[in-house]
Formats: sequence, structure tokens, C-alpha cells
Amino acid sequence: VSRFESIPMAPPDPILGVSEAFKADTNSAKLNLGVGAYRTEELQPYVLNVVKKAETLMLERGENKEYLPIEGLAAFNKVTAELLFGADNPVVQQGKVATIQGLSGTGSLRLAGAFIERYFPGAKVLLSSPSWGNHKNIFNDSRVPWSEYRYYDPKTVGLDFDGMISDIKEAPEGSFILLHGCAHNPTGIDPTPEQWEKIADVIQEKNHIPFFDVAYQGFASGSLDADASSVRLFTARGMELFVAQSYSKNLGLYAERIGALNVVSSSADAAARVKSQLKRLARPMYSNPPIHGARIVANVVGDPVLFNEWKEEMELMAGRIKNVRQKLFDSLSAKDKSGKDWSFILRQIGMFSFTGLNKAQSDNMTDKWHVYMTKDGRISLAGLSLAKCEYLADAIIDSFH
Ligand code: PMP
Repeated sequence: VSRFESIPMAPPDPILGVSEAFKADTNSAKLNLGVGAYRTEELQPYVLNVVKKAETLMLERGENKEYLPIEGLAAFNKVTAELLFGADNPVVQQGKVATIQGLSGTGSLRLAGAFIERYFPGAKVLLSSPSWGNHKNIFNDSRVPWSEYRYYDPKTVGLDFDGMISDIKEAPEGSFILLHGCAHNPTGIDPTPEQWEKIADVIQEKNHIPFFDVAYQGFASGSLDADASSVRLFTARGMELFVAQSYSKNLGLYAERIGALNVVSSSADAAARVKSQLKRLARPMYSNPPIHGARIVANVVGDPVLFNEWKEEMELMAGRIKNVRQKLFDSLSAKDKSGKDWSFILRQIGMFSFTGLNKAQSDNMTDKWHVYMTKDGRISLAGLSLAKCEYLADAIIDSFH
């Protein structure tokens, strides 16, 4: 008899488990709209040309595979902070940002969780309701208490701004407020610039610490600067804050696990101490981060020619998603005779659409139509082609009624 007899079977992951179920389905009409990964119009994975060029350069240079320092590749850390805050941002120039390379967005969030647990014991993290499902797992495993602030209003399929503000106000002073920098996952609903100002106001009033999750810079709107504007607005107010970054989507480096944690402090001295402690936390967890993705990012962002090509490819990806978003809206509006207003689809941004389908309806999407999606009604438009929009519209209308 095994000593693991008492270990129960874990449930499949609500997002990655969807891909497993998709693979097992033999129906040719099947569509995987679960995981947020970009596909071409032919629904194939896409490796960016700038990534291939950067990798060719790396091979030609014959670079070695020595360990990186605990904090990661210096050239990467430099460009990633500059990309986020802007190279001429005073916090960057004055050395007030502690940047440490992370294991993509997830690993960077997890490292921040470890830091909060150690240096802000008892402090709470506030998550939007709903949020990316893994946020709760990350803070649970970090032993950081969390609760939720109102965000999504099903009645308007929009932002519950008053609810959000009042919940942030009610949170214990000095809480960490987790904010999606752009392209909120799963709703696709972002605050307006005016709303961001008001959110910053209450966070400052309550002495909270903003904690941005930036997983879609440049991928949401097609513009790297526009997608970083929320973070920069808070930074310009002189606030101390955390930002977790990911290059999974905007450079298509999903499996390379490349991202960063940036902590902005009000002095360079504090930043240096924070960074030393982040390194101390990283060392026993994973020792030092992988080099391949870091070199790709450093090469692409650090080279003006590749950087411009990257921007073009990003606009292409963001543009394709906008096109399927429009086509899906058009198909739904043309086919649906119930008079339902589908315009919320056009107001959402980023790679997802939050359809409003409930769990039973989402089950119908999968069981009857072979459309794989998360049970919260989220669909990834990055996994949809123009050719499949009509089919998807039929599936959605059937599942709603
Ligand atoms: N945060 C959000 C909001 C996300 O949507 C994702 C990716 N789905 C991540 C973080 C982290 O992804 P990764 O670990 O691949 O960077």
C-alpha cells in the first residue's frame, strides 16, 4: 500500500484543463477559446518574426549557458523597466525601481506574494471580482490574505465603478490593491483615464499600495505606451507600487517564462534594499531565472530596428483580434432575433470577451457545439478566426436561449 493513499486527486485547472479536454475531442468543428494564446487566422500558434531574428542573432554570437545572477539578465531588467515606465521616467532615472527578472507574470506575482508575506504580515491583497483565476491560488499559496472588490456589473456588462471605489475605501489601510494595467482578464473592461485618476485618489487617501498586473502591454491596444498609461499615471503621482510584467502574450514567449517584478520606492536607497530582499526570496525558490527569453527580450527591445518590427507585429496581432471581435458582433447582431444588445462585445478590449454566458450555458457551448471555454463565460478571441465567427455566433445564441 502506498504512503500516498490519503492524497486525493486534484481537480483539473479551470483554464489549462480546458486545453486538455479540447485535445481529447475528435469533432472537426471544435474550437479552443479557453486559454489566452494568440493564434493565426489558420488557428495555428505564432512565433513572431522578431523572435526568430533575435534567436538567430543569439546563435551567431555563440552565447554560453552560464547561470544568470539571482536578479536575472541586467540588459533585460534595464529594458523591461524602461518599456514599462518610459526610459525618461524620473523613477527610472533616479534608480527608484527595483527590477528583478521573474518566471513570467505568474512567477513575478508569486515572488511579490512572498515579499508581502514576509515584510507586510497580515496585509491584505484586494482582487477584482472577477479576476484571472490564478490570482487567488498565488496569494493562497503565498499565505497572503485576500478579498475582493466589486468590478464587473452584469446588469450593464460594464464596470461597477462606484462599487469598486467604495470597496477600496473600506479596505484596511495599507492594503495591496491588485489592478490589471490594461485589458482586464476576464472581463475586457478597463477603467477610463478619469476613472483611473479617481482610483489613484482613494488608494492614496487610504495609504494603500497599488499592485499592477501587466500581462498585455502593447497587445491590448497595439500601443505599448497607451497600455502602460495606467501604471505611469500612478507613478507620476509619486506613489510606491508593484508591477508584475509578462512577455507571454506581447512577444508570444509563453513557454519561455519571461517577465519581471518591478517595485517602485520613494528613494533609491529603499529600492536597493527591496531588491536585495527579493533576491533573497528568489534564491531558495528557484535560484536564478532562465536566460533564453531574457536575451530575446533584451535583443528585441534594445535594438531600434527589431523594436520597430515588434511594434508592427503587435499591431498585426491586436488588429486581427479586433477584426474577429467586430465579425463576431456583426454575426451575433445579424443572426439573433431576440433584440439583445451585443454592443458590449465591441466595448471590451484585449484578447478576451466576457460573454455573460453562465456555467450551464458555457457547458452547452462545449457539450453541444464543441466550443471549449472557461465556465465563467470568457472566450479568447485570439483563438478565433474570421471563418469561425458565424459558427460561434450560432453556438452562443443557441446557448443563451
Ligand atoms: N496575469 C494575467 C491577468 C494574465 O492574464 C496572465 C496570463 N493569462 C498572467 C498574469 C500570467 O501569465 P504568464 O505567467 O504566462 O506570464
